Amino acid sequence: MGTRPASRVQVSPRAFFIHRASKMQKEIAIKTTKHDEFLDITPRINRIVKDSGIKEGICIAFCPHTTAAITINENADPDVIKDILTSLDKKIPWEDEYRHSEGNSAAHIKSSLVGCSESMIIEEGKLLLGTWQSVFFCEFDGPRTRKVIVKLSDSEK
Ligand code: ZN
Repeated sequence: MGTRPASRVQVSPRAFFIHRASKMQKEIAIKTTKHDEFLDITPRINRIVKDSGIKEGICIAFCPHTTAAITINENADPDVIKDILTSLDKKIPWEDEYRHSEGNSAAHIKSSLVGCSESMIIEEGKLLLGTWQSVFFCEFDGPRTRKVIVKLSDSEK
């Protein structure tokens, strides 16, 4: 296959974070302030979509963290988010008979349940979302410095 010998291939654990920002791929820097919280990142994603000039396409928001997540849910009544957080805490208590030595298994489990990405439709230069929907970054082991990678694809090209 003409590739490098295996012995010369070095896979850094941080290699995942080495990627190029471009018109089609951007990062959103996030600073969470609570242990558990949802932050509405819809305006920041829409800004990236607008700046790209894409009118019709696909947008993927990806969370490269194992104790955080991305979800889409209601932004109108803040109690919805509170209820989601409370319910997750009830189902997945912080203290339990977990084996993971870092002590944050609950956050890892919540991350997997909620999911690390959302795919969205771009229509007329912005995200196509329901009236009550927003895109939320979900922190489960904060406060921390986080990021979301936003990848865009132009359907008209
Ligand atoms: Zn951990």
